[in-house]
Amino acid sequence: MKKVSVIGAGTMGNGIAHVFAMNGYETNLVDISQPALDKAVATITKNLERMVSKGSITAEAQAATLANLSTHTSMDACKDSDLVVEAATENVDIKLKIFKQLDELCKPETILASNTSSISITKIGAATKRPDKVIGMHFMNPVPVMKLVEVIKGYATSEEVLNVTMETSRKLGKVPVEVNDYPGFVANKILMPMINEAIITLYEGVAGVEEIDTVMKLGMAHPMGPLQLADFIGLDVCLAIMRVLQDGFGNPKYAPCPLLVNMVTAGYLGAKTGEGFYKYTAGSKELVVSPMFKK
Ligand code: NAD
Repeated sequence: MKKVSVIGAGTMGNGIAHVFAMNGYETNLVDISQPALDKAVATITKNLERMVSKGSITAEAQAATLANLSTHTSMDACKDSDLVVEAATENVDIKLKIFKQLDELCKPETILASNTSSISITKIGAATKRPDKVIGMHFMNPVPVMKLVEVIKGYATSEEVLNVTMETSRKLGKVPVEVNDYPGFVANKILMPMINEAIITLYEGVAGVEEIDTVMKLGMAHPMGPLQLADFIGLDVCLAIMRVLQDGFGNPKYAPCPLLVNMVTAGYLGAKTGEGFYKYTAGSKELVVSPMFKK
């Protein structure tokens, strides 16, 4: 496997393209938005510079990584790829459309992977004529730093495709973990109900934002409290994943907290919109509780 395409150049796509290019793969980064591609290349360049200044890679490796990377606004770039990793917006209709297109464009042996956080790999595979070659490759944010790849085997994914994907993840310096295709997989089946429960705890007035996050940081040794983590992931993404768990299992324990629903409806999505449980000011690293939750 030599040629890889990454679809979607947002938060996750730029990180995924970074690690493939850094590990010697000819990497196409594809997005419908030219500004998203420009921003992704700027982010990759900045992150590589930081790695050189820390001594974790050489200047030659930095130049080789950038030489391995090319950007495109047309999916035609994926034609010769051995592996395509889709990291476009978390929306089922967008993903099904992309996979149908890829299925028609790519060589019959090309593996089609999705970085989805929660959408069924079996459903995505069923939209193609090669469900045996469709798999989940769930990288964690920030991709160049985080070691885990959750590898999700759809109902029809072949053992051979599973083995190749596990091996490719190892070649990227990652630790792959095989899981089956059920709502939320493992990572978000456990993480999202915890985040939702933290929001319910705030909603019920058991404690404030800082108190809840401090209990989980100092008491459970979590590097970040669940409310700060929700802001980092994006409250819209958290709500979308809770809805997938609720629909998929039909169990009321996965009902999203009404406060989470209200915040998303009002456009308070966390760090990306400047306010969620905390308020974010460009250039400031100080963690400030949103005035909405000040006591
Ligand atoms: P994002 O919103 O930052 O980026 C999505 C990109 O996809 C945008 O640049 C958009 O222009 C592009 N796009 C949309 N439709 C497209 C199309 N038809 N063809 C090509 N590009 C298209 O999203 P993100 O946070 O990078 O998430 C991407 C995927 O990764 C989602 O499936 C998400 O669930 C998953 N994920 C996200 C995180 C996270 O922490 N953000 C972590 C793990 C997995």
